[in-house]
Amino acid sequence: MSDELAVIQREIRACQRCALAGFPIQGPPIFSGSADARLMLIGQAPGKVEANETLKPFSGSAGKRLFRWLGQVGWEEQEFRENFYMTSVTKCFPGPNKSGRGDRAPSRKEQQLCADWLEAELMLVDPEVIVPVGKMAIERFFGRNRKLVDIIGARYQIDGRIVIPLPHPSGASAWIQKPAHQALIHRALGHLAIVKRELGL
Ligand code: SF4
Repeated sequence: MSDELAVIQREIRACQRCALAGFPIQGPPIFSGSADARLMLIGQAPGKVEANETLKPFSGSAGKRLFRWLGQVGWEEQEFRENFYMTSVTKCFPGPNKSGRGDRAPSRKEQQLCADWLEAELMLVDPEVIVPVGKMAIERFFGRNRKLVDIIGARYQIDGRIVIPLPHPSGASAWIQKPAHQALIHRALGHLAIVKRELGL
């Protein structure tokens, strides 16, 4: 691992920005991977399971669906975790939402507070392929004004990197249940399979 990435990862682990700004985050920063990873998967924020039990990205119920999708591409979960970098737009569990039945979505302010950690990870890992998962991560690459339906299902070249977005795999997401959207997910996974083959990932 590059020394610079190790330094940044230590700084992220010690980060108190949200607590100092009064946000009720409920867990440590969650991310995994090393500087030589050729693919970076970027989620939105860790959930309760990641923050309180496993300390691994995408290891709750949404992670199960995500790894079912990646399994269709040809990646076993353990292989994927060992070879690639996994992080998120905001790195700490934001706590439950008001209803208590799901996770609170990080506010714009929290996303801004955490943004330069993600930029540092992108610069130091410098992955060939990026998989943004969910609206918040997709916005980092496509801006806020485009709909998922117009983005998911294609392969993009952004700043010299291949970008293949996926929707958030949460079981609570109505978006991923629609047959037309499932077709887009299928297409996105097809693009990932081609890139996997092309680059020998
Ligand atoms: S979410 Fe990001 S900015 Fe906020 S405390 Fe965690 S690492 Fe720091």
